[in-house]
Amino acid sequence: MDRDRLLETFKNIEVTDKTAVELYKEISSACMDEIMGESGKTPERCAYYFSVEYLMGRMFFNNLLALGVLNEAREIFARKGFDLNAFEDVEDAALGNGGLGRLAACYLDSAANGGYPLYGFGIRYKYGLFRQKIVEGEQVEEADDWLKTWGDPWSVRREDENVEVKFADMTVTAVPYDMPIYGKSVNILRLFQAEGSEEAEKISEYLYPADDTEEGKILRIRQEYFFSAAAVGQLVKRYVKQYGRNFSHFPEQHVFQLNDTHAVFAVAEFLRLLTKEYRLTLPHAVEIAKQTFNYTNHTILPEALECWDSKLVEKVLPEIAHILTRLHLLAKREWNACGYPKEETAEMSIVRGGKFSMANVAVYISGRVNGVAEIHTKILKERLFTAAYGHAPEKFLNVTNGVTQRRWLMLCNEELANFYDTRLGHGWRKNLPAIEEIACDDGDALAAFARIKETKKAQLAAYIEKREGITLLPDAVYIAQVKRLHEYKRQFMTALAILRIYFDLKEGKLPDFTPAVFIFGAKAAGSYKRAKEIILFLNKIAELIANDAEVNGKLQVVFVQNYDVSYAEKIVAGSDVSLQVSTAGFEASGTGNMKLMMNGAVTVGTMDGANIEIVEKAGKENNYIFGATVEEINALGGKYDPVKFAEEHPRIKQVTDTLTDGTFGDADGKLKDLASSLFEETYNRADHYYVLYDLLPLVDALLKVDEEYKDRTLFVKKQLFNATHAAFFSSDRAIRTYAEKIWKI
Ligand SMILES: *Cc1c(COP(=O)(O)O)cnc(C)c1O
Repeated sequence: MDRDRLLETFKNIEVTDKTAVELYKEISSACMDEIMGESGKTPERCAYYFSVEYLMGRMFFNNLLALGVLNEAREIFARKGFDLNAFEDVEDAALGNGGLGRLAACYLDSAANGGYPLYGFGIRYKYGLFRQKIVEGEQVEEADDWLKTWGDPWSVRREDENVEVKFADMTVTAVPYDMPIYGKSVNILRLFQAEGSEEAEKISEYLYPADDTEEGKILRIRQEYFFSAAAVGQLVKRYVKQYGRNFSHFPEQHVFQLNDTHAVFAVAEFLRLLTKEYRLTLPHAVEIAKQTFNYTNHTILPEALECWDSKLVEKVLPEIAHILTRLHLLAKREWNACGYPKEETAEMSIVRGGKFSMANVAVYISGRVNGVAEIHTKILKERLFTAAYGHAPEKFLNVTNGVTQRRWLMLCNEELANFYDTRLGHGWRKNLPAIEEIACDDGDALAAFARIKETKKAQLAAYIEKREGITLLPDAVYIAQVKRLHEYKRQFMTALAILRIYFDLKEGKLPDFTPAVFIFGAKAAGSYKRAKEIILFLNKIAELIANDAEVNGKLQVVFVQNYDVSYAEKIVAGSDVSLQVSTAGFEASGTGNMKLMMNGAVTVGTMDGANIEIVEKAGKENNYIFGATVEEINALGGKYDPVKFAEEHPRIKQVTDTLTDGTFGDADGKLKDLASSLFEETYNRADHYYVLYDLLPLVDALLKVDEEYKDRTLFVKKQLFNATHAAFFSSDRAIRTYAEKIWKI
């Protein structure tokens, strides 16, 4: 790529009389010309990433940074009187839900930057994750028509590579859109758009359509099969062109990574093609598949481990249902021949209770199965896939998640990046572990870092003021909990902890309290009633506090609307404290925790997911760990009774009573329902996620933070220590591990 030529093109772009949209398209297109000029032949062996979500965020700034022209471009256009920050309004393509989709985006970035040939496959949804507004405290969802205003100048439609995907009742055209990912190599994210009849086009219309009806379930099956089959079909066809039906070289050239179970239909389609179209025997096809596929598990939540009713699959994809059934019998025979006990084969079984277990298909076929943090991988081995692990321990490994420091440090915190440049030179930009060289007890460094944090906090406050119309308290500690809304993530527990602090303030028990601002950002899945109730509760608390002159100079709660990648960039850079308070054993890894750490937030967290590794790297003494461990929770067994527990702890009872005593009004019973989640049996026990059990320890941890924040030098030292020990959580490290241990690329 010719940097000077690109800068020259920028200089020649006329800005007068053009709209921001026109300029966006023109500048992007100039970059695309350079990028596409670089994308050459694919190497012999490539890795392919199958993911139903990609949460890319804005590509504009990312690509200009990757091309090494961001600062010059800013200057060139500023001289013409155009501020590139106008593109902060560009739609943030949210073709994903949360961590899993953002991980896929970080991995593509790191692979390209490390020069690893990794190609992504997914779906080009017409509407991304809904846009969220808060109206009278409640979430309102609007369709995210992300292409409407700004278009998509970063992708190229490739009709010459269309694929036909066949269902029992229709044939759908999968039209590829290629988005180049620029780095040391130029890799491609290929998203398929469904075209054909109106029915066909529904397939790529929405991300995660509601699946509480049969129709909804069928649509999801179609989505998953659609992109998996398009991708596999294309790769197999290309291979056959070169080698004919001898598939023995296929695994030498292709390695497939399944990002969770959503693309497990790729396994079935691969076997179908090899047996039906190319006449291999099933055992032979399975042998090839076993050398090609790998699977990353992302959750142990039973509701997220996909099981598809075999009758439904048969209805829309009869050949796929047939091949999965044959695979089931083949695996059973194999296990029986080995003499595995019945309970074990039942656990590993592909067909279970009339359903296909997609996770079991993935585990059976995959060469390597990985979890995404040490504790999560341990749980996979010991609790989720016990039998499979017992028979093939070598199959299982851990690859702790990571985030790209290009977006989550260099782009979102230029000031901190400059700080490293000044003290270390530019070497750290290619080798993140170099930031550990910063001496965290050096007075100058601490003072400089403290100034940067203040700057980033001021920027965040200004942004929230602009977006939400809320002025943050001055001189406050900023505490952020930003992530999807889910009961296991326990935003509800934080809400109750804030109420506890509110009452303590009112009762005069906290005379030296440092002002604290709690920042929440979270979308609740459209059909997830309880998650929506928690959003309402948070907003009720925000309102209660804001209207109470006795405390509103000390405490503030802000729920920001439409939390997405771009909002995350502001919040992770501008927060002092990162809340990671999931019930131990439930958060596979978390990546939000890593982004905040990388920007120098200290963690208030449970011993869960990657939090454990975070405090291993940055020291328990520099973070605030609280709450029950996995072992403690397991040991509690049936002994925990939240009703009794609240009775025994008046400090808890006082806050939970607000859910039912009319403190917030509650004509429609939404808060009452939240109370019943604590005190009545739902799922299989009351307070399923141990919210009350960990509540007071959380309050204590928050009060400790508040106390220690007063000694600013000490607190900033903790923050700087976290920032400079975050290199392990770079997705560059994670991708290197995948490349070396799994992909062999
Ligand atoms: C990083 C990220 C997530 C994941 O956050 P967790 O705290 O790991 O759940 C979700 N949404 C967005 C927009 C993100 O950037």
